[in-house]
Amino acid sequence: MSSYVVIASLDRAAKLPNHESMKRVAILFCALLFGASIFGAGQEASGLLAKGTKWETPFYSRDSGKPGPTIMLTGGIHGNEPAGAGAAEQIRHWSIKQGRLIIVPRVNRPGLEKGTRYLPDEPLAHRDLNRNFPKTDSDQPTRGVLAQALWTLIKREKPTWLIDLHEGYDFHQLNPKSVGSSIIDTHDKAAGEVVPIMLQMVNADIAEPKKKLVRLR
Ligand SMILES: [Zn+2]
Repeated sequence: MSSYVVIASLDRAAKLPNHESMKRVAILFCALLFGASIFGAGQEASGLLAKGTKWETPFYSRDSGKPGPTIMLTGGIHGNEPAGAGAAEQIRHWSIKQGRLIIVPRVNRPGLEKGTRYLPDEPLAHRDLNRNFPKTDSDQPTRGVLAQALWTLIKREKPTWLIDLHEGYDFHQLNPKSVGSSIIDTHDKAAGEVVPIMLQMVNADIAEPKKKLVRLR
C-alpha cells in the first residue's frame, strides 16, 4: 500500500486541485517542508471543522511565533485511503521552527470510520468530497457542508502551501493508470523549485527504481 500527495501553492492556484486516484508516502515530504524543524516549540491550538454536524472533525494548528510559510495539510478526504489520515495524525505532533502548520488529519471522518471512499449517505452527485471544491476556470460552487467548512478554513488561513494526502493501489511507473507514488502539483514556479527536492528526499529511501515517486500534473 502506498500513498500519493497533492501539493498546491495557494499563492497562485487559490483553489484545490481536483484529481483522481492513488498512492505513496507523505511524511518525508513534510520533513522537507518543515525542515529539521522537529525541534521548535510552538503555540498549539485546535478546533472543530463543521462543528455540530455529522461531519464534525478536528483540526490542529501550531504557530512557531516566527515568520515563515503557513503549511496546511489534509488527510482522509477519501475514507478508504487511511494512510494519508494516519500520516497527518503523526505530523500534527511535530513542532516547527518557523511559520505555521495547520492540519486536518481526518477530513472525511465518517467515510474513514466506514472505510468508504465517499461521504456516507450523500447523494451520488455530491458523494465524492474531492469533487466538491471550486475548480479553476469554472463557476462550480463549493458543494456540501464539509467542503464548505474546509474551504472556509482555507480561505481564512490563506496557506502558502496546501498538501493533500491520499493513498493509492499501485505505483505509477508500474501502472500508468494509477497516480500512486506521485506528487501532483500546480506546476507553478514555486512548486517547480520545491517538488524536485521533495522527490529527491523521499526517493532516496526507495530501492526499486520503478517504485520511486514521480511528478505528475
Ligand atoms: Zn484519494
